[in-house]
Amino acid sequence: MWIDPLPPERLAALLVPERAEQLRRTAEHAREALAGRVVWNVNATAQGGGVAEMLQSLLAYIRGAGVDARWLVLRGDPPFFTLTKRLHHLLHGSPGDGGPLGDAERAHYEEVLQDNLEAIVHEVSPGDAVLLHDPQTAGLAAGLRAAGAHVVWRSHVGRDEDNEHTDRAWEFLRPYLADVERFIFSRAQYVPEWLPQDRVTVIPPSIDPFTAKNQELTGEQVRGILLSAGLVRDGAGEHPPVEFTRRDGRPDVVGRHTGVLVDAAAAPPLDARLVVQVSRWDRLKDMAGVLEAFTRHVDDLPGDVHLVLAGPEVSGVSDDPEGAEVLADCIARWRRLEPACRERVHLAELPMDDIDENAIIVNALQRHAYVVVQKSLVEGFGLTVTEAMWKGRPVVASAVGGIQDQIEDGRTGLLVHDPTDLDELARALERLLADRDLADRIGAAGRRRVLDAFLGDRHLRQYVTLIEELVR
Ligand code: UDP
Repeated sequence: MWIDPLPPERLAALLVPERAEQLRRTAEHAREALAGRVVWNVNATAQGGGVAEMLQSLLAYIRGAGVDARWLVLRGDPPFFTLTKRLHHLLHGSPGDGGPLGDAERAHYEEVLQDNLEAIVHEVSPGDAVLLHDPQTAGLAAGLRAAGAHVVWRSHVGRDEDNEHTDRAWEFLRPYLADVERFIFSRAQYVPEWLPQDRVTVIPPSIDPFTAKNQELTGEQVRGILLSAGLVRDGAGEHPPVEFTRRDGRPDVVGRHTGVLVDAAAAPPLDARLVVQVSRWDRLKDMAGVLEAFTRHVDDLPGDVHLVLAGPEVSGVSDDPEGAEVLADCIARWRRLEPACRERVHLAELPMDDIDENAIIVNALQRHAYVVVQKSLVEGFGLTVTEAMWKGRPVVASAVGGIQDQIEDGRTGLLVHDPTDLDELARALERLLADRDLADRIGAAGRRRVLDAFLGDRHLRQYVTLIEELVR
């Protein structure tokens, strides 16, 4: 994956002077300490999901600091991704598809990673650092160590308390982690007790305020983007095309789309207040639960409120075989709704063929939302929460995983303590919909929280410290 460098100083504009100076020192230090080495990152997908999102911008800043950081994406076949999806669910503590993790699965996992290893190992030099991301890549560690590289494995998923499912996943992965020198987890609670704790670093994720996903947009741009994407409708016929800036700096316009909503003829009106969840079509994100909570309580909600459940076009995310099923389940539930209720619920498959355009559409949708929901049953961190908070939107989210590190209940968002309690979710929505002052206060506090804790300068500093310690 080619990544254009970005100057880390760009972030400094948002920071208080001491923090901006600290960032400048981090960049300078990284350049010196890592000179002559490549910092490789390996993950399973170039687009779709939080890991790809974060790599894209962090690696750009690291390159901008003068470090030779590179990104490789694994190749795998459908059975491999079905297996790694199973591991992903198990690490979150849920049974997933219930399939086996036996000798046949192990053999296939190793075979796919052996093929990948052969494709990359000759590019990696002794002394390089390799950051392997998530279960898909764990099986590369031994081969890369043997080639003389320093190997870090980062898990972006986890669960606060282990259970039989997490135990199964770790039993499968543990042999592959023996050669790993350093481990990164998003929360201390996710670290399995058998890992040598002195080799573990906790690094929460971060967002980049300047990407298409998060850059500032005017109200006019937001409306124009959503109209072009067919996600809202107004009475006027034609509207002017909206410009946006691509990752590589080129200007472009948001294309006109007609089939993004499952019921394209019934987009929500432009002036409707939207309750929005943006997620992959993953059972653990519980899109269906949001739909159920909203529709069961639709009569208690003001009449101008609509629900939008938006996820990537299901054919567009290659390591996510479950997506089509989850979307189909949501569509089936939606079809069964009474017509008056159905017209207030909208399912969107956001185009994935152009990742910058996808990002600007997500950005506009999050900004246009009155409330953003993240009703995950479990969550590694929840970048969608961070993104919405950064945009000053009040967030209602389950008190699971890293969401608890972001939202302080009642101050920087509203937490739903039991993620399966549909009534609790509906009550939190009702509260915010009835009280715009509260919504505004929570939105503003959420943005400050992200500024304090979840921007890239903190993340870069932690990465640089860790890699430098490793290679020194
Ligand atoms: N996302 C996106 N387009 C979509 C759906 C999701 O770009 O159609 C992004 C979303 O904005 C966020 C990431 O995918 O940046 C999801 O990260 P999160 O940590 O919330 O969950 P994950 O998918 O990693 O479990």
